[in-house]
Amino acid sequence: MRKIGMIIIHCTATPAGRNVSVEEIDSWHRRRGFKGIGYHYVIGLDGSIGLGRELELPGAHTLHFNQHSVGVAYVGGLDAKGRPADTRTPAQRKALVRLLTFLRGEFPEARILGHNDLAAKACPCFNAAEEYKDI
Ligand SMILES: [Zn+2]
Repeated sequence: MRKIGMIIIHCTATPAGRNVSVEEIDSWHRRRGFKGIGYHYVIGLDGSIGLGRELELPGAHTLHFNQHSVGVAYVGGLDAKGRPADTRTPAQRKALVRLLTFLRGEFPEARILGHNDLAAKACPCFNAAEEYKDI
């Protein structure tokens, strides 16, 4: 297994209420020239945790930080007008805590950060480092 120093949270930048499957994201990312879906996990609107890229492989989600990180995306991140917004459903919030707790168990040295902590982006549209600092 590669060394994991960060767990990086993303959103899919899709409108609130619209579900997006792992397969759909996989096709978007292939079109962008990635070797398939760039995230390792995708949290659907109903809180289901979809498996993306294999954990053993570096993702394609955060420029310069893919080699030693795990990428987790929740579906959403835009309001009805297409503006960045924290659109997490209660089920997604629960699933994120469950998944991050699991990942911190697997990779105790890994810090939990948002994409916006590493790049000038709105993604994931909330302060992940602060919200998950006690996980
Ligand atoms: Zn992102």
